[in-house]
Amino acid sequence: MSVRMHPPVPPKHERRLLIATHNPGKRRELAALLSDLPLRLIDLLDLGISEAAEEPHESLEDNARWKAMFYAERSGLWTLADDSGLEIDALGGAPGVRSARFAGPDADDRMRIRKVLELMASVPWPQRTARFRCVIALARPGEPPTLVEGRLEGYVAFEPRGTYGFGYDPIFYIPELGKTMAELPLAMKNQISHRARAAWKAREILRQWLAEGPGE
Ligand code: IMP
Repeated sequence: MSVRMHPPVPPKHERRLLIATHNPGKRRELAALLSDLPLRLIDLLDLGISEAAEEPHESLEDNARWKAMFYAERSGLWTLADDSGLEIDALGGAPGVRSARFAGPDADDRMRIRKVLELMASVPWPQRTARFRCVIALARPGEPPTLVEGRLEGYVAFEPRGTYGFGYDPIFYIPELGKTMAELPLAMKNQISHRARAAWKAREILRQWLAEGPGE
C-alpha cells in the first residue's frame, strides 16, 4: 500500500505578514515577538526577493516607511519593516540611522563595535549614555504605512560582554539589570528591548487589521 504525502497546505483564511528584513537577528526577534498572532510570517527569501531596499533617508522613521512601502508593493502582502539604531549622546546621536554602515559597507559587527569603542575611549562613564531606538512601519499595499516606535536607554560599556543578540548588543549596558544586552537570552531581550516595545504596539495594529477582514 502506498501512502501519498502532501505538503502542508495553509488554510485559505490564513493571513500572511512579510517580515521585510535581511537581518537574521531582527528576523528572529520579530518572529518571537509576533508569534501569538494568527498570521503566517513570510521572509523576503521565501518570496525570492534578494534585492535590498535602499535606506536613502536621514531618519529611522523615513527609512522604515520607505522599506515597508517598497516591499508591500513588491509582494502585495501586509509588510512589516524595522529600522533601528544606536544613538550615543557623546557622539551627537551617531551612529543612529547609520548604525548598519557605521564602519563602512563591508564591516562586520565586531568592526563596528571597535570603531564605537575607539571613538568613546576617553569618554567617562556618566557621559556614556545611549539608547537603542526601533521604528517599525506596517504597510498594507496601496496604503500609507503606520509607524510605531520603541526605545531603551542605557550606557556604552568600556568593553564588549556577552554572546547573545547581534549588532551593538555586547557594548550596550543596561544599568537596571547590571548586564549588557548581549548577556540576555532572546526571551529576556524580548521583554525589554526597543524592538519589543515597538513590536507590542505593532501587534495591536495588526490585531485591528485582522479584525477588519481579509489580508490579501
Ligand atoms: P538597519 O535598521 O537595517 O538600518 O540596521 C540597524 C543596525 O543597528 C543593525 O545592523 C545593528 O548594527 C544596529 N541594531 C539595531 N537593532 C539592534 C539590536 O537590537 N541590537 C544591536 N544592534 C542593533
